[in-house]
Amino acid sequence: SPKGEFKNEPFVDFADPENARAMREALADVATKLGREYDLVIGGHRERTTGKITSINPAKPAQVVGVHQKAGAEHAQEAMDAALRAFHSWSRTPVEVRASLLLGAAEIIRNRKFEFAAWLTYEVGKNWAEADADVAETIDFLEFYAREALRLAHATTPIQYPGEKNRLMYIPLGVGAVIPPWNFPFAIMAGMTTAAIVTGNTVILKPSSDSPTIAAQFMEVLEEAGLPAGVVNFCPGSGATFGNAIVAHPKTRFVAFTGSKPVGLDIHELAAKTQPGQIWIKRTVLEMGGKDSIVVCADADVDSAADGVVASAFGFSGQKCSACSRAIIEAPIYDVFVEKVRERVAKLTVGDPARNPNMGPVVNAAARDSILGYIEKGKAEGRLISGGAAVETAAGGYFIQPTVIADIDPDAVIAQEEIFGPVLALIKVESFEEGLAVANNTEFGLTGALYTNDHERLKQAADEFHVGNLYLNRKCTGAMVGAHPFGGFNMSGTDSKAGGPDYLLLFTQAKSVAEKL
Ligand code: NAP
Repeated sequence: SPKGEFKNEPFVDFADPENARAMREALADVATKLGREYDLVIGGHRERTTGKITSINPAKPAQVVGVHQKAGAEHAQEAMDAALRAFHSWSRTPVEVRASLLLGAAEIIRNRKFEFAAWLTYEVGKNWAEADADVAETIDFLEFYAREALRLAHATTPIQYPGEKNRLMYIPLGVGAVIPPWNFPFAIMAGMTTAAIVTGNTVILKPSSDSPTIAAQFMEVLEEAGLPAGVVNFCPGSGATFGNAIVAHPKTRFVAFTGSKPVGLDIHELAAKTQPGQIWIKRTVLEMGGKDSIVVCADADVDSAADGVVASAFGFSGQKCSACSRAIIEAPIYDVFVEKVRERVAKLTVGDPARNPNMGPVVNAAARDSILGYIEKGKAEGRLISGGAAVETAAGGYFIQPTVIADIDPDAVIAQEEIFGPVLALIKVESFEEGLAVANNTEFGLTGALYTNDHERLKQAADEFHVGNLYLNRKCTGAMVGAHPFGGFNMSGTDSKAGGPDYLLLFTQAKSVAEKL
């Protein structure tokens, strides 16, 4: 059973030389394990395919992090059969047993946290603090959902009807397709998977093709913690073929997806189409992109606001759905603010994340090219303040300078489309009201922040700043499990609120049982 109340896993303090040494050792140790081949795991059996997915280090693209199998559409049926077989027993397994699997896995990860952080550094280019935060969030999801499942199992009806015994049971849905992104390749992947299994569902897990290795490591952790065969079927494969096939399968009961808006919308559409033999409406949990704003009022603490904007815009090279990509600044402090941002950005270091700079690479060549394309558009749409180009390295890593472009019109392309890289647009507004209107002028609604000392404005923002996760006088990244249930409005998704008290409901269906006394 869980040890006490849920508490967020503390972050590692890398200023402590002991911790820095542990991280360097973990990086050296994991370096000896790079390039290994991993299998598909279907119904507990390991399988190989002819086609392979090669996961590389974006800081050194010649370095292979892991070689993975590539499930094709033909594996969808096999994985579904295994998941359906396992559902029969897993759905009837006591919730205490399911919760203890998550707690056991959390303990394994906690004991090896530097090692997992090192894998994240190599596979997706996270610096130490970003990698550690991903590991800590993974532990948090496991600890939180284990407790939530136990809580849900004790749900009662609000009223007992006279002369009856009334029960409310949250029962599992069936087999789910879990399709995570690469940017929180440990936490989001593990969070969606374990929310599904702790409530009694079974899963076909298709990790991102950019980050299958950390997912394979997680599969091994689950097995070590006692995962029965078939409860999670580990199937790396291309989104367009295998991903599509598991979404379309008539026996798929639900899809848990986190990723980009276009893919989320495609999944929504495909899942809505009833297939021959399908006897339910598929449930979709779709968490998608963002175009997140920080509004800075003239009365704000400008240094604190500049710190918050720079941290939110350039942490993990801006590759967070919550990243600030637009700072909206009141005219009286605009020039001062631009200068403060320029000074801070000039100090950011870019390089091999294993050496712990402020910023590592972006995830792959296609991302680099797309971001550089937006930077060129941005240069035409505004005034370049910092950066504006790729950083060439001998190893050919996908590095981009932290880039700031000022005097951007609220309707400009770089003010509207998700860039998913280290690019910040600065927008000048004449009033707080205008700032709020600009903040709300995209199709997204994921995160946002407001810096001001005016209580009326803070209150107005709480009511009118239309985002799923609003932050007042702090940065707009770094949501904590339990404290900041996460998910966005509008084209940012279905607002599922991962890490919140309602999340597990999405993986269940409620059954009311009334017994005459
Ligand atoms: P992505 O390109 O949409 O991919 C996400 C997942 O979908 C991957 O596993 C991908 O597989 C798979 N996929 C692609 N096409 C598919 C299809 N037709 N059918 C089924 N699955 C398919 O997103 P990403 O680049 O990995 O992640 C970045 C995006 O995620 C950003 O937009 C970011 O804002 C968003 N995000 C949102 C949240 C949130 O909580 N709202 C959190 C994190 C990230 P392949 O890798 O094989 O293509």
